[in-house]
This record gives sequence, C-alpha cells and structure tokens, in this order.
Amino acid sequence: MPNMSLKKNEMPVQDPNVRNKNFQEVALGYTEEQAVDEANRCLNCKNKPCVGGCPVAIDIPAFIERVKERDFEGAYDVISKSSSLPAVCGRVCPQETQCESKCVRGIKGEPVAIGRLERFVADWHNANSKEAPKAPAKNGHKCAVIGAGPSGLTCAGDLAKMGYDVTVFEALHLAGGVLVYGIPEFRLPKTIVQREVDNLKALGVKIETNVVIGRTIEVDELFEQGFEAIFIGSGAGLPNFMNIPGENLKGVYSANEFLTRVNLMKAYKPDSDTPIKQSKNVAVVGGGNVAMDAARSAKRLGAENVYIVYRRSENELPARKEEVEHAKEEGIIFKTLNNPVEIVGNVHKLVTGMKCIEMELGEPDASGRRRPIPKPDSEFMLDVDCVVMSIGTSPNPLIRNTTKGLETNKHGCFIADENGLTSREGVYAGGDAVTGAATVILAMGAGKTAAKAMDEYIRSKSN
Ligand SMILES: Cc1cc2nc3c(=O)[nH]c(=O)nc-3n(C[C@H](O)[C@H](O)[C@H](O)COP(=O)(O)OP(=O)(O)OC[C@H]3O[C@@H](n4cnc5c(N)ncnc54)[C@H](O)[C@@H]3O)c2cc1C
Repeated sequence: MPNMSLKKNEMPVQDPNVRNKNFQEVALGYTEEQAVDEANRCLNCKNKPCVGGCPVAIDIPAFIERVKERDFEGAYDVISKSSSLPAVCGRVCPQETQCESKCVRGIKGEPVAIGRLERFVADWHNANSKEAPKAPAKNGHKCAVIGAGPSGLTCAGDLAKMGYDVTVFEALHLAGGVLVYGIPEFRLPKTIVQREVDNLKALGVKIETNVVIGRTIEVDELFEQGFEAIFIGSGAGLPNFMNIPGENLKGVYSANEFLTRVNLMKAYKPDSDTPIKQSKNVAVVGGGNVAMDAARSAKRLGAENVYIVYRRSENELPARKEEVEHAKEEGIIFKTLNNPVEIVGNVHKLVTGMKCIEMELGEPDASGRRRPIPKPDSEFMLDVDCVVMSIGTSPNPLIRNTTKGLETNKHGCFIADENGLTSREGVYAGGDAVTGAATVILAMGAGKTAAKAMDEYIRSKSN
C-alpha cells in the first residue's frame, strides 16, 4: 500500500541557533526508515513525468522502487547510470523546479522528496561500498579537459570510462570548481566532492592543478602535445559589480572572492595566509543562492548583523525557497526593495556604511519580473563595515583571448552547438562557460553530451 501522506518526510536539520555558529552540514539526511517511508509515497507512475523534469533523465521511479525494497545499492546503480555526482546533486539540485515539480503527488499535497531520496541513496553507497572503480583498458587516444568543475569532471569521467587517456587542467589548487570554492561546507561537505574526484582518479583521469589555460599553456599548445579533442568547462567565475562609488574600498568583496577565501582558503583561521576581515555588520547585495551562501557564511564568521539587500520584493528573490528559509532561521535580515547607491568609507579607505535607496515595483521588464524603480527622497544609510557584491558573474575572457577561432556571444559565453562543439574543430565547451551562471546538473549534462560527441569525433578521424 502506498503511503498517502500529503507531506514529505521532514529532513532532520541542525538547530538554527547552533548551526549559525558552525560550518557543519545543516541538513542531516534521512534514516533508512524515513527513506523507505518516503519512497512508499511514490506511485510508480507508468508515464514517469518526474524523469522528464530531470536534466540528466535519471530513472527516478526505478531507483525509488529499489529504496522501497531496501535494495539501496541497487538504487545507487540505477542513479549512477545517468548521474556521476548523486551525493552532490541530492544536496544542491533545485528539485522543486525540476523533477519534483512534475511529481503527481504534488498536485494535492507535497511531491515525493526525490532529492532527499537521491541524497540518502548516494550517502548509503558512500558509507557502505568500499570498492573504488576500476580503470578500463586504454584506447590509445588523448583528450584534455579545461576546468575541474562539475562539467569538466563529468566529461572527464565519461571519456575515461570509454578508454580515453584524459588530463584535466585546473587553475586552482583543488579540483571541484564551484563545488569546492563556492558552495559552503554547511551545504555541501567537501569530503563528498573529494570522494568523487578520487573515483575519477581511480578511473585513470589525471588532474593537473595550478595550471591556468591561457597563461601557463594555451589551447593550441595542447593540440601540439597530442590531445585530439579538448573540452572547455571553465565556468563563469568573473564577478559583476554595480559600478557605484566606493566599490574599491577595503571591505568590499565579490561573493566569489569572499566565498573562495572562506571555503577554499579557510581565511577565517588565524594562521591563514589570506586572512579575511572579521566584520560586525555585513551587507550582501543580491538575492540569489550565491547571496544566501555569502550571507550565511558571514553570520558563521561571527558578524552580529547580516543584511541581504535586494532591489525587488521577497516574491522575486531568485534563491531557492529552502535557502531563503534557512537564512531567515539563522538570523539573516532581509532588506528587500532596497538598492545601494554608494559605499562610504573613512580616511583609511575602510568601509563605514552603505547608502541605499528604497525601491518600488513598476511594470514587468524583459525578464518578465516587475521593474524596480527608486522611490524619490528615500535614501538612507546602512551601518556596515563589509559589503559583499553578489549580482552575478560572467565567463573569464582569458581562454577566448588566447585561442584562435573560438567565438563567444555578447555575454562572453562560448558559442557551442547542441553537442557542445564550438566554432573551432576539436574544441567542445559546456556548463556555465556556455550558458552563463546556471546549475550543477545542467553543467554535468553538458559534460556528458560533449564526452559522447568528442568520442564520435575522434573515432570518425581515426577510421
Ligand atoms: C556560491 C554558489 C552557490 C551555488 N549554488 C548552487 C546550488 O545550490 N545548486 C546548483 O545547482 N548550482 C549552484 N550554483 C551554480 C553551480 O555551482 C554552477 O552552475 C556549476 O558549478 C557550473 O559548473 P562548471 O563546471 O560549468 O563550472 P565551475 O564549477 O565554475 O568550474 C569551472 C572550473 O574551471 C576552472 N577554470 C576557469 N578558468 C580556467 C583556466 N583558464 N584554466 C584552467 N582552469 C580554469 C575554475 O577554477 C573552476 O574550477 C552555485 C554557484 C555559486 C557560485
């Protein structure tokens, strides 16, 4: 008999007043009993609408059936046919707008908690399966992957499984891309990412860190070294700024810099080589997931007041609802319908405040959201000593500027066809470098598609 409860099984979480002072994971995961109970809410629909909502088409009803039977390893096998990072996706995918939005149980009540079940299955596998994957026999062909984020790692893994000799070149000192430098530990523990990277290494993938393509070595030189096809998964890590006075003051960060210092370089530790200012009052400008991560990190670093300053209303906040709720529970103060106009500093060029203006919403703009309009005579000063700008990112132009024949669009994103092929023969691209800032699962999907196309390209040349 299916479980006809209208509500999902709750996910146990750390107490908000405890977790806002530590970096340990907020959500604690289902127990076996909770997972089986939740799986029993799935009606195993014949037409599987949820699968259509998953960018990598995981056979969701099939894995949930295995969970019902307590065959957790079998469930993992089903998921891993389509996804190479299930423990990551189970934690960070926006399921509410993807698979879960199509679940028929969501018509009257809450959808099946597909993301929580995916996370449970992946964690169960990681805790119980000790076997590392075996490297397949090599096929004698070499491919290069630029960037060790989810798109690059997925592409590298799929190519390695086909027998290619794959080298990943990563600019930073650790592989993982945004999964290690952007998304904080309290949402995605870094041991999970490291395990996925270790699995790739076991498959024979070589990862060369501290190599900046376009500086250390260029794309054309990779071809000269015998790489037959190249995948660019360099992401969209270049931060946007508002171009308002005071953005160059000490204490103003881009969200990427702030989060990289905290996540990757542990800048909050007193012995860190790259310390971060411990602030009392922090304003994070923006309303997306990145802004929530920066605000919640600032709170954990000890700030007394952390503000999200967002120019539209709460209804338009682009961040996941769950992240907004978590942020509120942890004491983040939302200043919606407010926009900064100037950051103010003292003689030492340290931030002392942020001048803001109140906004109201007008007619919808090109994005379909109501346009924010400044309210006359409504300026006020927010007392802050740190400002984190989180208003979007774009791809870094370095690779485009150092590679002949690689076309980009007006946003600086590589132009690629549906298989990831760029304007240059043998060069493929995917993930945020092509779409602009998007999601982990879309980046993985792009890496997968490109790996298949690179294989076909190399085989067509060798015949
Ligand atoms: C703070 C934050 C929170 C997010 N939260 C979520 C979330 O909850 N859910 C979700 O689905 N998505 C989230 N995203 C978005 C998601 O992380 C990205 O869409 C995804 O990581 C893109 O993957 P990618 O492989 O294209 O690029 P990235 O993850 O950006 O990886 C690109 C890699 O390429 C390297 N690189 C760049 N240039 C070079 C070069 N010239 N040479 C060598 N290496 C280079 C970079 O160092 C990086 O490691 C978040 C993003 C941020 C910043």
